[in-house]
Amino acid sequence: MRKKMVVGNWKMHGNLLENKQLLDAVISSLDGLHEDLIAVCVPYLYLPSVQNQLQSSSIAWGAQNVSQYEKGAYTGEVSASMLSDFRCQYVIVGHSERRMLFGENNNVVAEKFVAAQNAGIIPILCVGETLEQREAYNTEQVIEQQLKSVINLAGIESLNKAVIAYEPVWAIGTGITASPEQAQDVHTFIREGLAKQNSNVANQVIILYGGSVKGSNASELFAMPDIDGGLIGGASLIANDFITICRALR
Ligand code: PEP
Repeated sequence: MRKKMVVGNWKMHGNLLENKQLLDAVISSLDGLHEDLIAVCVPYLYLPSVQNQLQSSSIAWGAQNVSQYEKGAYTGEVSASMLSDFRCQYVIVGHSERRMLFGENNNVVAEKFVAAQNAGIIPILCVGETLEQREAYNTEQVIEQQLKSVINLAGIESLNKAVIAYEPVWAIGTGITASPEQAQDVHTFIREGLAKQNSNVANQVIILYGGSVKGSNASELFAMPDIDGGLIGGASLIANDFITICRALR
């Protein structure tokens, strides 16, 4: 049986006070009561305070990006071993905002994936198509290529220690959610594609859906057989919404 999971992606939001209030509410509603995996991926600077607040709870934390390099003259970068110092369990790699706004291509994303795993951190690998690619019927080809870059570099079994997040770019931060059927179709495509290479990996890998998930639509998405939970942007900043989404896993 695969675990179910909800991950909050705070993006570049928050401050010390707001973060504390948000996590206080999340801890008091979800800590210890949940058999599922719940995590928040926060801006680097807040890792020490988030670690401090979450370390004795069942809620995990992580980062939203990582350097592909181990160390060296890379001004402004943060390495995977630095994230380990703050006990990050997860790091998002290949988020569409990083791919589109910061020029990260499939090769760089694959290198970041490997860097995270080498430091014992579970990468949450984001894949997904733009609206243009969907309308040109290229969704499957785009996702296949995004996964292939990682599998070519890290091997199919690397996905045993990873999470995949299907995030259609046209649904991120737009308020437009993929229908449960649209999302399930892509999740099936991903799982069946992996099964051709390794059925154990395909059966056990957690595949999250991300893109305008809210308290009001989480249950119907999470009810689909291949959707194992969600990667949540905007709604992860609103305590009640995030808690409702986490509860929708059951
Ligand atoms: C995200 O940033 O990963 C995301 C899914 O954002 P939102 O939920 O706001 O669409």
